[in-house]
Amino acid sequence: AAMVKETIRVYARVKPPGRRQQAGIYSVDDDEKSLSSLEIIVPHDLADGFVNNKRESYKFKFQKIFDQEAKQDVVFDSIAKPVAECVLTGYNGTIFAYGQTGSGKTFTITGGAERYSDRGIIPRTLSYIFDQLRKDSSKVYTTHVSYLEIYNECGYDLLDPRHEASRLEDLPKVTIMEDPDQNIHLKNLSLQQATNEEEALNLLFLGDTNRMIAETPMNQASTRSHCIFTIHISSKEPGSATIRRSKLHLVDLAGSERVAKTGVGGHLLTEAKYINLSLHYLEQVIIALAEKKRSHIPYRNSMMTSVLRDSLGGNCMTTMIATLSLDKRNIDESLSTCRFAQRVALIKNEAVLNEEMDPKLMIVQLKKEIQELKDELALVTGKERTSELSQDELLQLDELIETFLEDNDPDSTLDVGADMRKIKYCFVHVKQLMNHSKISDKKLLSQHISEEKDTNKEAGEEELKKLKELLQQRDNEINILVNMLKKEKKKAQDALFQLNAASAGSTVLEQSHSINSEESQSPSSCFSLKEAKDFSSSVHRLPFLSRQTGGKMSLGCQEAFEVFKRDHADSITIEDNKQLLNQRFTEAKCLGEKLNEVRNKINHLKGEINQRHIQRAALAISSPSEELYTLDPVEEKLRTEIEEEKKRYKTMFNRLKGLKVEIEHLQLLMEKVKVKLQKDFEVWWSEESINLQQENPEMVSSPNTTTVYPRFIKSSQHLSTSSFSETTRVSPNEDPAGKNNSITSNNPTLKTRTPPISSTSIPLTGDSQADADILAFIKARQNILQKKGKSCQ
Ligand code: ADP
Ligand code: MG
Repeated sequence: AAMVKETIRVYARVKPPGRRQQAGIYSVDDDEKSLSSLEIIVPHDLADGFVNNKRESYKFKFQKIFDQEAKQDVVFDSIAKPVAECVLTGYNGTIFAYGQTGSGKTFTITGGAERYSDRGIIPRTLSYIFDQLRKDSSKVYTTHVSYLEIYNECGYDLLDPRHEASRLEDLPKVTIMEDPDQNIHLKNLSLQQATNEEEALNLLFLGDTNRMIAETPMNQASTRSHCIFTIHISSKEPGSATIRRSKLHLVDLAGSERVAKTGVGGHLLTEAKYINLSLHYLEQVIIALAEKKRSHIPYRNSMMTSVLRDSLGGNCMTTMIATLSLDKRNIDESLSTCRFAQRVALIKNEAVLNEEMDPKLMIVQLKKEIQELKDELALVTGKERTSELSQDELLQLDELIETFLEDNDPDSTLDVGADMRKIKYCFVHVKQLMNHSKISDKKLLSQHISEEKDTNKEAGEEELKKLKELLQQRDNEINILVNMLKKEKKKAQDALFQLNAASAGSTVLEQSHSINSEESQSPSSCFSLKEAKDFSSSVHRLPFLSRQTGGKMSLGCQEAFEVFKRDHADSITIEDNKQLLNQRFTEAKCLGEKLNEVRNKINHLKGEINQRHIQRAALAISSPSEELYTLDPVEEKLRTEIEEEKKRYKTMFNRLKGLKVEIEHLQLLMEKVKVKLQKDFEVWWSEESINLQQENPEMVSSPNTTTVYPRFIKSSQHLSTSSFSETTRVSPNEDPAGKNNSITSNNPTLKTRTPPISSTSIPLTGDSQADADILAFIKARQNILQKKGKSCQ
């Protein structure tokens, strides 16, 4: 098999500074032809504090350096696109981001949470890959994705639907299995099929949301865990038994920061350990690989190095992005990130084309070959058969032909054995069928004209008369049909008009299929903007509130959430995106209306061509002349016009498709921010409850204890795997009673007591839960007011 030897490509990306701009800490030299170099300058005041052997400046080479202003599309084009291309041809690929927390790993790999233009390598790669797959009709492709999180040496399936209902530690762990050929397999990691960009993107967001939900202050998943999003592609040429399989790992590693040890005299010791043990093992693997003569590479020390074994020194095209946050405080971390990168750049990988035979297909192919050889032999030995085919044999043949014609599998064959009479019969039969379908397919009149073209013009009077009669008949038929068509069209237009009034966008989208049949075949072009609109409005509805246990979340809690929402920074993002989304909807609607116009124009032109046909046919009857058998220039002109309109239609259609992807992405971003808002509220609320309990012990007098801890339904109705047609799965842990969803009474950590009714003048409901909520809310509101008052003084 084809093999590519290559060292790991290493890039650097420098994050824009937060607030204070510091000049002169580093410089980028792009002059050289192949590699760029990054110089980090240690400021004097810092260098003085270090041990003496510190130099003042350090230089590092990178494939390319993306400075602060580099945009996501540029990063994608130069880093990820080449890797995606290799993966499409059957090689494995890996892109991993390495750097300290806050240096931009997640921003680079997944993207920012606010803007569409900030989407990172994963969404852009998905979009690119599915675009390429759509364009290549020579192969049959299958795509799956998986999303693995490694936290504390344990693997979790971020796409496991049980994530919503269970705690992280209750989920089945993903474990590593090694087969006799030392190939790594991951048990309990689901592969979800994704047939288009939209489905894949939904899975990405589902995984990210699951990760966020599982994160608690104690479990700082986003800085301490590694995330591996993998795209699995397999391809096969029709009729071939060879399958190509490739994987693309997109890896967001844990923060690379080290524990700085303070030595004697308060000096920082240069030797420092990683916070994350598995990154320490990763470095050991890298060191071992970079040393030429090492035979043992300690992959097995950690789960991460086991999973990425092929990406490091194995069968894979690998790329690393060193993310740097280059300000004064981070000089040391940046230096160690660059040093790590320089070692990685020495590693050589050998990527091979991953081809394998499908044994089942091989058997089928070999059987076929044997049969063909047998048939050939029979033909050559020429066993003569004199008798005609029997009635039974003929029936059997008809049946065979029918099954063959109905079978959509390109591999299917019509096998009648080595009998020339049967073979001939089949050909005749198929010919008849073809002629028949031609006649019924073609427009009756044009067929008639072309038939006339073919007839001998010197045919006798008799023949001409017969033809004229036939023509008259057909003419009548056509007139009737045209009338019917007109009526249908009018009806359709009326209906269209009504629908348009309701929602122009979606109408056009549904109708667009009738024109562009080749596009309507791809599932991704089945637009459903109407659905999307419902989605966007659900952001106001806050469905999780209405789905609380017992049908209600206490009023106090609800109101508090409203206040919280208003004061929360993320609300601005939601509002901004909501506006942007509305704008996009308007654009899409506008485009939809224009598409409609073009469509009507095309239909109109088609109508004119029909009219033209009828006119010419009538002319042919009244005054037959040579000219009528030649091409009609008017019709030609109409046809070119139609072609042009179709081109316009197609461009607009593609623009609409792009808009649709953007709209979906924005919706997913909003959903993510929304979940985060809920989580923040949960934390805030529980803190407030605890404070309340501590500050007002006099309220604690009732023996009834209940927990005031609002938990939202993990609001994933829009994200959960079960909303996909392909990957429908019903979670076994779905809890109809909703006992996981809201204020739980079995949470031992957060308890507060119901205040006695007499101790307050507030009209309480008597429902202990609701009352506790109301009191908590009032207290919380006081706190807010106090804080606001303080900040005003
Ligand atoms: P990490 O994943 O390495 O901990 P993040 O990707 O979360 O870091 O980045 C930290 C913050 O900096 C985020 O708010 C992110 O949006 C922002 N950020 C990172 N890189 C860039 C960049 N190149 N341009 C703009 N903002 C960035
Ligand atoms: Mg991160």
